[in-house]
Amino acid sequence: MNTVEIEEFIAGLPFGFWVGLGGVCVVVIVVGLFALLRDREPGFQLMMICPHCGSEGMPKVEMPGSALVQFCLVLTFVVPGVFYALWRESAKKRVCPVCGATGVVPSSSPRGVELRRQLQKSGAEPPQSKG
Ligand SMILES: [Zn+2]
Repeated sequence: MNTVEIEEFIAGLPFGFWVGLGGVCVVVIVVGLFALLRDREPGFQLMMICPHCGSEGMPKVEMPGSALVQFCLVLTFVVPGVFYALWRESAKKRVCPVCGATGVVPSSSPRGVELRRQLQKSGAEPPQSKG
């Protein structure tokens, strides 16, 4: 296959192919930027305190859905794939690393300070995550 043949092959590709390829690139860029901004959000990686079990530490980040489904959707139906990816990003949440409860609050926030004070007053020892 020489250069001319390659050029003819590329020119002969259906328009839909290029739309799809462009779509996939846009999805990758948009989702990547979205995730980057979200993770750099001030306070996203702070120490959190759990109102459920009182443990304090770095929260786990949970994402709904599946990366495999997202991958297949983006490859086959570009537009639903974008929405699926954005939904997963927007529904990403922080959960307690010990009990898995949602609603953890930053330890340094007024609510977190108040929670810690209440826990100390009640004499309950928060479970320590070892390691
Ligand atoms: Zn907890």
